Amino acid sequence: MYLPIVGYGDPILRKEAQPITPDYPNLKQLIDDMFETMYTADGVGLAAPQIDLSIQLVVIGFRPYDEATDTYGPEEERHVLINPEILEERGEKQYFNEGCLSLPELHEDVLRPEKILLRWLDENFEEHTEEIGGMFARVAQHEIDHLHGKVFTDRLSPLRKTMIKRKLNNILEGKTHPKYRMKRSVKNNRP
Ligand code: ZN
Repeated sequence: MYLPIVGYGDPILRKEAQPITPDYPNLKQLIDDMFETMYTADGVGLAAPQIDLSIQLVVIGFRPYDEATDTYGPEEERHVLINPEILEERGEKQYFNEGCLSLPELHEDVLRPEKILLRWLDENFEEHTEEIGGMFARVAQHEIDHLHGKVFTDRLSPLRKTMIKRKLNNILEGKTHPKYRMKRSVKNNRP
């Protein structure tokens, strides 16, 4: 089932999300719904606060890019992160152009470490601690920010933040028109 996506400006995107335990109700269905929502909206990652649940749950799915052949692999890489924790930042910091389903029509270069040491639970509550890099590390960092009340524009320079102010206001005012359905706040529901 498709779940409407919460837009920038909604207070849930500023809250610290809570860890979950294996008895969390209907977790399997929720994970399926989050993947469906992410694919419908053409995203590569989705964090639970973006579908109005303040819990530490993230889904990620993308086709890995092969630089040598300049193509995307046929096999999709999928990850479920429960209660994830970044233990260490590793490697160089790199810029990468990011977008966010909660901030439609906005793309900005964001500086983040290329690798992280990540500890997380998968959908079976099995624990993993791995150094991850590439697209997985990039998307994981973006989504884990959502679990701690951050969005990617918080990581931009003060100058850049000033330059995108109008675009952010358009999102707040509900003036963007993504092809996927968003949960509009009361303010944006004006006739
Ligand atoms: Zn996002």
